[in-house]
Amino acid sequence: MTHNADIRTGGCLCGAVRFTTKGPVREVVACHCGQCRRQTGLYHAATSIPNDRLSVEGGEAIRWYRTSDHARRGFCSPCGSALFWSPDEGDFTSVLAGAFDEPSGLKLTAHIFCADKGDFYEITDSLPLYPGSRGGPPAASKP
Ligand SMILES: [Zn+2]
Ligand SMILES: [Zn+2]
Repeated sequence: MTHNADIRTGGCLCGAVRFTTKGPVREVVACHCGQCRRQTGLYHAATSIPNDRLSVEGGEAIRWYRTSDHARRGFCSPCGSALFWSPDEGDFTSVLAGAFDEPSGLKLTAHIFCADKGDFYEITDSLPLYPGSRGGPPAASKP
């Protein structure tokens, strides 16, 4: 999959918020923690990009909700689409993979906080499964 100068676009369900990423983005990681489950209804699959390579149009439609003492989550206030996760420290933003226009050229590579995953589904792919963050080796990976 080739991208025009590695430029990707995306936005929320209603179209009030549109964004553009320039250059390479991180591989997609699925977070199965309780916060992500409640916010998305399932899990939170996101890439990440330095802030200086992310531009946002319609930012006034974004509501920021603080979910911890070190991060907040941005969603579109008219339509409720989850879009961003932004740490207070650090110069990057996580962007929800499902918000990108297709073909996204993105790829899911790992599952994190699997110990907190919802009890109503199973993770059935063969990607690495981390019980918490990606600080250590994965606990398991399906054959
Ligand atoms: Zn919207
Ligand atoms: Zn999470």
